[in-house]
Amino acid sequence: MVTFTEEHTAFRKSVRAFVEREIDPYVDAWERDGRMPTHELFGKLGALGWLGLEYDEAYGGQGADHRFAVVLAEEIGRCDAAGVGMAIAVQTDMATPSLHRFGSEDLKARYLAPAIRGEMVAAIAVTEPDAGSDVAGLRTRATRDGDDWVIDGAKLYITNGVQADWLCLLARTSDEGGARGMSQIVVPTDTPGLRVSRKLDKLGNRCSDTAELAFDGVRVPVANTIGTIGRGFQQQMAQFQNERMVACYGRVGACERALDRTRDYLKQRRAFGGTLMDNQYLAYQLAELYARVDLCRHYNYACAEAYERGEDTSRFATIAKLAIGRLCEDVARTCLQYHGGIGYMEETWTARFLRDMRITSIGGGADEVMLRVIATMHGM
Ligand SMILES: Cc1cc2nc3c(=O)[nH]c(=O)nc-3n(C[C@H](O)[C@H](O)[C@H](O)COP(=O)(O)OP(=O)(O)OC[C@H]3O[C@@H](n4cnc5c(N)ncnc54)[C@H](O)[C@@H]3O)c2cc1C
Repeated sequence: MVTFTEEHTAFRKSVRAFVEREIDPYVDAWERDGRMPTHELFGKLGALGWLGLEYDEAYGGQGADHRFAVVLAEEIGRCDAAGVGMAIAVQTDMATPSLHRFGSEDLKARYLAPAIRGEMVAAIAVTEPDAGSDVAGLRTRATRDGDDWVIDGAKLYITNGVQADWLCLLARTSDEGGARGMSQIVVPTDTPGLRVSRKLDKLGNRCSDTAELAFDGVRVPVANTIGTIGRGFQQQMAQFQNERMVACYGRVGACERALDRTRDYLKQRRAFGGTLMDNQYLAYQLAELYARVDLCRHYNYACAEAYERGEDTSRFATIAKLAIGRLCEDVARTCLQYHGGIGYMEETWTARFLRDMRITSIGGGADEVMLRVIATMHGM
């Protein structure tokens, strides 16, 4: 059982209060607009030190243990629109871990520190029109020209991509093919030749902006390479573990809150001479989902502990991602169903929740890709 100290508990209270005060009152408008004021919100989070909880103090991080990141994700996960948590998680756990781990001091000073302060918005640019699950198939090309990379290609479904100040880009930097010869490169979004070709319209997570990006002769210094030239694929695979872990922490918070809200609704909604909760079938269905949330929470905590010990968490992160993706769908479907007609209305949280949770089984590696990894781990 992972140990949460009084400081973790106090931090949980602070994050919950922040969500209730600074996020939830505004998300309906952000969802309607199809974008949130990311710089403004990140400025507030950065001022609190929450965008760099685990990062070195030298770059403005808090140097805190991983359990603080678990708490942050669980609590942000409870907010009224999952798109907010996705935008924050991209900043803290998807676009910046490689830079923190492998980046040069100069890159960290220019891009990591402002991201931690919330002054710059970051995005992770891996997926392409012809390469999503199969990352080794990506084609965006960075060609060396003296001390510069010249980048040509396209990236698709890039969260924060419309508002981002810089990208953690994965591009092909040699002709080796497959997983070889890729590099991670910091690309400032105001570089000539880089443009948002489309702002995408989505089923859910509507307040989080999602972009298609076009690169046409985008020139950045080779010094913007994160870590080792040619090791980008491997560095990105490690960064994906952070992405999956934090996504799973957040979803446990989201599912628990959804079940609590549905329980409360069933207790007050009357039908057939009693409350809906008097119907044991409904209570048992919710009980089963609560039990699955609990299993996932403690599986997450086992993962978090392994991460704190410095162990490889890919098995934990893969299995958790698969299980929690499925749990999210079951919770969202059940909560909407038990609200009846009102659950289908936009005025009720259940409709957005159903839409928002659907991405869990696709983004950051689809369920089938998780199964492929698990099958390989078991010699299949
Ligand atoms: C809202 C949203 C936000 C996103 N944000 C980002 C981001 O910030 N940065 C980024 O780089 N990417 C992002 N993505 C991309 C996301 O990671 C990919 O969509 C995902 O990895 C799947 O890739 P794909 O869409 O190309 O699907 P494909 O690779 O075309 O796969 C389609 C489907 O085929 C099945 N499948 C695939 N491979 C296998 C297999 N080996 N065996 C069996 N079945 C398989 C799965 O069901 C899969 O869903 C985002 C996507 C969405 C929808």
